[in-house]
Amino acid sequence: MLIDNRESPGVEDAALAPLGLPSGAGRGLFESATYTCSHCNAVVVMEPKRTRARGFCLGCGQQICDGCEYIRARTLACRSMDQRITELQERDAVKQTDPDPPLTLLHQDTETTHG
Ligand SMILES: [Zn+2]
Ligand SMILES: [Zn+2]
Repeated sequence: MLIDNRESPGVEDAALAPLGLPSGAGRGLFESATYTCSHCNAVVVMEPKRTRARGFCLGCGQQICDGCEYIRARTLACRSMDQRITELQERDAVKQTDPDPPLTLLHQDTETTHG
């Protein structure tokens, strides 16, 4: 990833934090390694200062983002994009084959007229 701010006054650090970018990334020429999360396809910027281990899924043998690592740590399941797409397709397939619920015949009380 390459951010070129040489032509601009730069971006405040406060504006970078929500983007997951390290401070100083908005000024000058900033280059950082990125990786794509195997589970949600998010592009993660590898912060040089970070010492905490990054999420790594043994299921697909790929690096994953913090959010997916959190889920993986809890479920111990590899939920890659491919798997999610398959799941969605299966769900849609079930939807399509699922017959419409039978129409319930409403009992209509016909108004009786006296007179
Ligand atoms: Zn992810
Ligand atoms: Zn995985």
